[in-house]
Amino acid sequence: MAKQEDQFKKVLSHAKEYGYVFQSSEIYDGLSAVYDYAQNGVELKKNIRDYWWKAMVQMHDNIVGIDAAILMHPTTWKASGHVDAFNDPLIDNKDSKKRYRADVLVEDFREKINQKIQKDIEKAQKRFGDAFNEEEFRATNQNVIRRQKQIDEISAELARVQEENDLAGFKQLIVDLGIGCPASGSKNWTEVKQFNLMFGTQIGASAENATQVYLRPETAQGIFVNFLNVQKTGRMKIPFGIAQTGKAFRNEIVARQFIFRMREFEQMEMQFFVKPGTQKEWYTTWKETRLKWHLSLGMGSENYRFHDHDKLAHYADAAADIEFNFPFGFKELEGIHSRTDFDLKAHEEFSGKKLQYFDHEENKSYVPYVVETSIGLDRMFLAVFSNSLQEEELENGTTRTVLKLPAVLAPFKAAVFPLVKKDGLPEVAKKIIEDLKWDFNVFYDEKDAVGKRYRRQDAAGTPFCITVDHDSLEDNSVTIRHRDTMDQKRVKISDLRDIIKAEVDVKTWLKKMEA
Ligand code: ATP
Repeated sequence: MAKQEDQFKKVLSHAKEYGYVFQSSEIYDGLSAVYDYAQNGVELKKNIRDYWWKAMVQMHDNIVGIDAAILMHPTTWKASGHVDAFNDPLIDNKDSKKRYRADVLVEDFREKINQKIQKDIEKAQKRFGDAFNEEEFRATNQNVIRRQKQIDEISAELARVQEENDLAGFKQLIVDLGIGCPASGSKNWTEVKQFNLMFGTQIGASAENATQVYLRPETAQGIFVNFLNVQKTGRMKIPFGIAQTGKAFRNEIVARQFIFRMREFEQMEMQFFVKPGTQKEWYTTWKETRLKWHLSLGMGSENYRFHDHDKLAHYADAAADIEFNFPFGFKELEGIHSRTDFDLKAHEEFSGKKLQYFDHEENKSYVPYVVETSIGLDRMFLAVFSNSLQEEELENGTTRTVLKLPAVLAPFKAAVFPLVKKDGLPEVAKKIIEDLKWDFNVFYDEKDAVGKRYRRQDAAGTPFCITVDHDSLEDNSVTIRHRDTMDQKRVKISDLRDIIKAEVDVKTWLKKMEA
């Protein structure tokens, strides 16, 4: 655990030091759970968005994009269920004045019991060596059996109070389990209340005429309300998809964990409209396709897992998360949901307009079913950034910090250095930049010894460093150094573009999805 926390702290300070992420309005001590992307961060974020857009829109002739407004007609959120049901249960501690999500308090308590089981298993594993059989141990060890029973009972009661919206029962569960405030230990709790996560604001010049509107809590509804417009004007045939990237806002009760849980964040969503009855197949297809997209970035298949939901949202007939191994453990990175015809039917009902598709093959109209893929761009950023940040022991006994970003996503693809700041070398270096900048983001640096410049670019995540020396003036060649292998090669200046392109080209990376 301590190692994980250490790694997470490194991620936070590195993100700031190397110009990736800053706290919002830092000079005023920041705004909780709101962040700004800095000069390198904005490039990485854009590259992730582009990588998603290319894979989803450009590579599918039956998927198109839109960019809907953040503000929508308020009835949208009545129809979608967000006004009535987009709530989290919150509880305050009367002594420490700290606020918590009641479900998270219970889940964390349950996880502690689970960790005790894991410890017993590890101990037994050490004792019995190869002869250890985990299944048998779980079935026979009295401590494990007792703890597992406790976990099961907590899970059942948690599911019940959530399903029945039994807020008194929720509080009782916290009291019965003896859960104390994580900050102070105090067990002096308020009642549990439901808290709506939408940010409200008003449209209109005067108070009497003002209309209550909301900052959208998800981008999906902008797609649903445009379903028929896009289908008709794009002459789309089912099955087809509409993709969108954009900001979403949630007034999260407890917003910790850096850009994992923000109050203002960006989503990349795609709603795929299918014939009723075929949704299960499409759900499976999209689960597989989305996992392939993640794996194409080469961040280790062991770092991903599916988590199929037992408790389904009111609109879903199947749902799964793709979880990623973040510095604080496996957590949701993307959701794939089979949303049935819930949303379109609800919008039909609330708007009084038909949102149906005429199927020429079947010769009838129907409300399509929807399979959604929904990923948080900021969470993806955190996954990529934290996974890439590594400390390496070098042969000479020193260590280097290197940000091994997938080259296709790196903010700058190459840095160009003159070996010294004189003898015409800066001019050659700048000429190379002039030439390469049409194709890639490239960076010029002439300060400090070359070794130091290499380290700076390693830490910033730049895949290539190009050094111009005195021989370059004679042979039109330079030294190119690879960030990950640290190999150095002498190459012709005229070959640089192709060498870089071979490693950073989106096509090369996306092709891996076909493997
Ligand atoms: P969680 O259970 O972590 O709150 P969720 O199930 O509410 O997430 P969805 O409503 O399915 O999330 O949203 C789709 C995706 O949007 C999530 O998989 C996640 O990547 C991203 N996301 C959701 N809430 C936030 C947030 N507060 N900050 C950053 N990203 C978020």
